[in-house]
Amino acid sequence: MEEGLIKRVMASMKCGVCRQRYEPENISVLGHQEDLWFLRVFCPSCQTQYLVAAVIKEGKKPEVITDLTEVELDKFRNADRLTADEVLDMHNFLKDFDGDFSRLLSRK
Ligand SMILES: [Zn+2]
Repeated sequence: MEEGLIKRVMASMKCGVCRQRYEPENISVLGHQEDLWFLRVFCPSCQTQYLVAAVIKEGKKPEVITDLTEVELDKFRNADRLTADEVLDMHNFLKDFDGDFSRLLSRK
């Protein structure tokens, strides 16, 4: 699936903090494994940056697996124990992900 379509699909989602809809230009595609896409989303309204893992299939509503703010992600990185399944999913994804995710993540 092409990135332009992914951005349009994600632009139909709302910010978890302020319920504002995202704009396609605030969405960066970080990488994907088949239908699982990793995106960085910035909400211009409340200035929150999210890392979103979502299963996106053509013609279907995206299924968001996790949307972590960078603060939350830092917390789970430093945590000894993973408490939430969705964090575990993300952790497993990151472990197997051979792309540049961590490099992209550290670049602000
Ligand atoms: Zn917002």
